[in-house]
Amino acid sequence: MELRAPRGTSDIFSRQAGLRRHLEETAVELFGWYGYHPITTPIFERTELFTRSIGESTDIVQKEMYTFRDKSGRSLTLRPEGTAPVVRAFLEHKLVSQPLPIKLYYSGPMFRYERPQAGRSREFWQLGVEAIGSMNPAIDAETVSLMMHYLETLGLRDLELLLNSMGCSRCCPSFVKVLRAYLEEHQANLCTDCKRRVQLNPLRIFDCKKERCRGLLKEAPLITDYLCVDCKAHFAEVQSLLMSVGVEFKLEPSLVRGFDYYTKTAFEVRSPHLGAQNALGGGGRYDGLIEEFGGPPTPAIGFALGVERVILALHREGIDLPGDSTLDVFLAVVGKESKPEGFKLLDKLRKLGIATDMDYGDRSLKAQMKLADRMGALYTLFVGSEELEKGMCKIRDMKSGEQVEVAFEKIPRWLKKQIGSRKGKK
Ligand code: AMP
Repeated sequence: MELRAPRGTSDIFSRQAGLRRHLEETAVELFGWYGYHPITTPIFERTELFTRSIGESTDIVQKEMYTFRDKSGRSLTLRPEGTAPVVRAFLEHKLVSQPLPIKLYYSGPMFRYERPQAGRSREFWQLGVEAIGSMNPAIDAETVSLMMHYLETLGLRDLELLLNSMGCSRCCPSFVKVLRAYLEEHQANLCTDCKRRVQLNPLRIFDCKKERCRGLLKEAPLITDYLCVDCKAHFAEVQSLLMSVGVEFKLEPSLVRGFDYYTKTAFEVRSPHLGAQNALGGGGRYDGLIEEFGGPPTPAIGFALGVERVILALHREGIDLPGDSTLDVFLAVVGKESKPEGFKLLDKLRKLGIATDMDYGDRSLKAQMKLADRMGALYTLFVGSEELEKGMCKIRDMKSGEQVEVAFEKIPRWLKKQIGSRKGKK
């Protein structure tokens, strides 16, 4: 048996785990300022939830879902995205009776059977938000601005925000008709997949990466020319609200995103540092989805960010983030007989919130010092019979090499103060 993680998946530990935690903690704090509450939904759902919401004609449903039957023969799918599960939970728990809009955020793994490459994997993490129950353009502007605020708070600077309107159930169909007619005229130049898409859902041709299809779309009719009065006014207000809070964007009429459920506002944020997989995240309105699942007409909007890509962009922009948690103190035991006292002190320091560790191999002092170094300890504290007799312990600053003697009972306070001021300066 080959002991390797399945293709397109990876183990997350050490620095990567620390970075993720930082991204998540920043999200928890910042999303909270915007009135969001956490939600966790199952990793798998009934397959139909995704086929009906994402759309039969999308790449995700056609090619990328991890679908399987359980032992009772139910068709289940590992979630490829987070919106449909949140909508399902919203309906199942009758959250419609709560004051609306209800704002929920999630973080967790998603699964898509895609060809793995830099920035693209089969299991990846998304951080996402859904604001359900308001039609107001202010919610659109707030959602987009939250996404940008979050990325900027992490330190990203080189971001490109693209904005479009997909119209609504009244105006989008007339655009689709015109687009289909245009594509039928140029059918011969389309790839096999797109030939099928013309009949199934011509909007999906915008997902095609092939040069000849993309070339054809340059001359194609634009959705923004077909918006109804209501969608036009909505889109104009979203833009002016975004400008009023200093969020810069570029209008991109070919931005349709890979899901069938989008209506009105659609957006995507890209980084120029990521090569082909340059989208950090995106989202849009899905005003018809809740009704589609049998709920009352309830407008909604959300976005999802790709955690791995955000981390990659931070690296590429050279932004140094707090990684794994650091060790404050390494407690070096000098001589076996001091171990019980050392262990007690270790326990005391930890209970005071000082990250402390020791050697569990009864190694020599020299080996313990090496270990302290490897573990990145800020200080090494020496506990031996001589120290215990004198009631004073040596503490070494591992960076400068300076050594001081501190009275045994004052050690916790001394360390707390030093560590506090060092971390404060960072
Ligand atoms: P989507 O759910 O397709 O709107 O994607 C939102 C974000 O999730 C994208 O902009 C990416 O950052 C990330 N993402 C989507 N698919 C993948 C994947 N296969 N691997 C890594 N990240 C992904």
